[in-house]
Amino acid sequence: MNKKTVRDIQVAGKRVLVRADFNVPLDEAGQITDDRRIQAVLPTLQYLRQQGARVILCSHLGRPKGRVVEGLCLTPVAKRLSELLCTEVVKTDDCIGCDVERVVAVMKPGDVVLLENLRFHAEERANNRDFAKQLAALADIYVNDAFGTAHRAHASTEGVTHFLPAVAGFLMECEITFLGQALSEPTRPFVAILGGAKVSDKIGVIENLLPKVDQLIVGGGMANTFFKAQGHEVGASLLEDDKVDLAKDLLKRAADKLSLPVDVVVADAFAADAKHKTVPVDKVPADWRILDIGPKSVKQFIKILKRAKTVVWNGPMGVFEFPAFAVGTVAIAQALAETEATTIIGGGDSAAAVEQAGLSDQMTHISTGGGASLEFLEGKGLPGVDALQDK
Ligand code: ADP
Ligand code: MG
Repeated sequence: MNKKTVRDIQVAGKRVLVRADFNVPLDEAGQITDDRRIQAVLPTLQYLRQQGARVILCSHLGRPKGRVVEGLCLTPVAKRLSELLCTEVVKTDDCIGCDVERVVAVMKPGDVVLLENLRFHAEERANNRDFAKQLAALADIYVNDAFGTAHRAHASTEGVTHFLPAVAGFLMECEITFLGQALSEPTRPFVAILGGAKVSDKIGVIENLLPKVDQLIVGGGMANTFFKAQGHEVGASLLEDDKVDLAKDLLKRAADKLSLPVDVVVADAFAADAKHKTVPVDKVPADWRILDIGPKSVKQFIKILKRAKTVVWNGPMGVFEFPAFAVGTVAIAQALAETEATTIIGGGDSAAAVEQAGLSDQMTHISTGGGASLEFLEGKGLPGVDALQDK
């Protein structure tokens, strides 16, 4: 990675503003149901504390739309952080202002303070310069460890970098290194698996990956548009009529690289308990819809994956939220868990599917940023990364 990290800068005794992604899921009682996003930032926090830095954490949570929303206070995050770091993490009542400055002023080396939800101020998303300046005034150094929001130019991801020396945290470094290496210098054969609902969501990814990969496996709902382009009827399946020509063009341009399902699981309704059966892709009944890839397709895809040395996966193979239609997705996840290849999972639903299958630990890297990883795979620069100091 060509960006400076916390290792490249003197942090001892300094006040360090760390942008984290603590946008964690909460239940009705306000309890955190999954703390992986908090866990993911711990290495950076532990390093900074060991170095004797004063750590000022900031994050957004949910979509308060510029207003104070009681249920979106970062109090549960501060509590969880205190437990994980075995130290009291003080949460302030706001993220800027006199009261916050007073709390920060008495911090000692190793102390950790968490600022209140950044998005209680509309200025955060607007990347307001004054707001960014006030945030920056709290610290001497800025560390971005929020890969999940790096695709957004907000005050806390981009604005602050105009006022403070800005470097990456370890999570950010890890994300960019894995995703970056896969795209720029993959060990070959390099195979990408794309799925999910729509072709239109993934056009940018297809176009960026196609010249780089040795094989591109297409599954999920987006394969339907390719079936149509191949001249097959897809019944009541999800289909993007306006993307059929694009699919035809891709089939022409990359016939040797594209692998499409040969059989599919069709259902008589979009429901968990729908009647279902496996059919070849050219035999989809008129009123039925494709909700998963079939066993022959799984077998064909696994054959390709067994030879791969690098695999990037974005988008489930079917409607994995319904157990009956998660079979294809789970089989692919299982194959990736077993391979020696470098396996990289990008995309929120793909990560959830791997987690649901209990295989997360067996992947090389699961990106913590759904939208950010998608934009990275599209080859787009991420404003929150671009703004950091070069090595
Ligand atoms: P990711 O978040 O990993 O990038 P996407 O958001 O692109 O993935 O796609 C995930 C969604 O695609 C899931 O909600 C899944 O139910 C849906 N999906 C997958 N296959 C189909 C299908 N055949 N028909 C309808 N929806 C599908
Ligand atoms: Mg998704």
